[in-house]
Amino acid sequence: MGEREALLERVSADGGTEIKDPATGEVIGHVEFGTPDDVAAAVEVAAKAQPGWAALSDAERCAALMRAADAIEAHAEELAYVVSREQGKTMNGLGARYEAAGCAAWVRAAASTPLPVEVLVDDESGHSELHYRPIGVVGAITPWNWPMIIASWQIAPALRMGNTVVNKPSEYTTLSGLAIAAVLNEALPPGVLNVVTGAGDVGDALVRDRRIGKVMFTGSVKTGKKVVEASAGNLSRLTLELGGNDAGIVLPDVDPQAIAEGLFWGAFINNGQTCAALKRLYVPDAIYDQVVDALADITAKIPMGVGLDENNALGPLQNQMQWNVVNRLVEDAKAHGARVVMGGDPDTGAPGYFYPKTLIADIGNDAALVQEEQFGPALPIIRYTDLEQAVEWANGVDVGLGASVWSADQDMTIAARLEAGTVWINKHGGIDPRVPFGGAKQSGYGVEFGVEGLKAVSVPQVISR
Ligand code: ADP
Repeated sequence: MGEREALLERVSADGGTEIKDPATGEVIGHVEFGTPDDVAAAVEVAAKAQPGWAALSDAERCAALMRAADAIEAHAEELAYVVSREQGKTMNGLGARYEAAGCAAWVRAAASTPLPVEVLVDDESGHSELHYRPIGVVGAITPWNWPMIIASWQIAPALRMGNTVVNKPSEYTTLSGLAIAAVLNEALPPGVLNVVTGAGDVGDALVRDRRIGKVMFTGSVKTGKKVVEASAGNLSRLTLELGGNDAGIVLPDVDPQAIAEGLFWGAFINNGQTCAALKRLYVPDAIYDQVVDALADITAKIPMGVGLDENNALGPLQNQMQWNVVNRLVEDAKAHGARVVMGGDPDTGAPGYFYPKTLIADIGNDAALVQEEQFGPALPIIRYTDLEQAVEWANGVDVGLGASVWSADQDMTIAARLEAGTVWINKHGGIDPRVPFGGAKQSGYGVEFGVEGLKAVSVPQVISR
């Protein structure tokens, strides 16, 4: 075993379920999956540790989180190796090393964002202050697309605010979840951060546990609704970061060459397996062919293959389920007469869940590939002649996580009309730990990051005299 394999070796069980590399099918480790019965014990540990953790000063908790970020940096290559092998993403590019570095950045941000007591009133009528108290034990349920960084987004702010955490990683990327938690725990006191493994039934048991005061959930809209129902008995607080079907609207004043790379990475980051990736692109008739050609040129140049190969920038899909979704939507588009500019012809005999980089042009707005979230490397490009129509189409779905407008004059008027939690101009999907991130409509509620994200994992308390 080389050095970068050490962490994978450390979190892998001796027996249990085989975990396979989605690029090759090779067994990379094992997981002994937990059951709903394991939840109570983990929550018990977290509940016992919580008063002591909350009794530390804010500065002490921040110092522990800063040491946790140092630990992430010390193990960055090992973390990247685990997530590349298990999730499939490439070591290079916007892949595994990028994810590991992001974990450290977000943990540091959670530990360095000021949240002072706010004096609301201080006059002859009295004095009122707003404090933020811990909630207690936070349940953190994470998905398989960015398994480490999303865990960091949920865990670090919760800990900062004096909560303890029980995290359930996705059953598809358990080793990645165990790896980031193991590294964070090198710097945290015992019992403060706990992990339960398993599938949806374990997540459900976590949400239903009476001692969970808050659930941070990132996953599908369908499962998000189940979390709402399951949490009702406890009236637990929720932050739900659910799926999206982000639209991008190109305006006629752009230079197609200048925006092509931004469009490509907006759509194909992590092979499209990103909540706020560009999933539907609306392009005006006047420059439609030029935009499609410019996108095709850059798409053709990006190498896809096994994540460990340093030359690759895109890997396989993470699992068969997602491969089937992408394949179904592209086949449906083809059957309805859409034009395949590139891709759309998977090699089903090859190992791994590879789906080729796919651009689909001349597709109707009512196509399933446009209306449903593909979560993979297949971008539909819809032609429009009337900007009002494009805005209506962009807003015409039940979800609204991100959106983008591509325009030389960078005007914000169209952006402000899009029903999404974030609208980017001339980029798509860029996030920043200082800037709140969350969804509109059925993409969920609550925000993560920044001071708003800290407030979301605490209870506001007014002290008035
Ligand atoms: P995906 O399609 O990305 O797998 P899910 O929303 O099903 O999306 O999964 C996100 C996370 O939610 C995973 O950790 C998964 O195990 C968990 N999960 C699945 N079903 C439930 C449930 N009923 N209650 C709580 N968590 C669940």
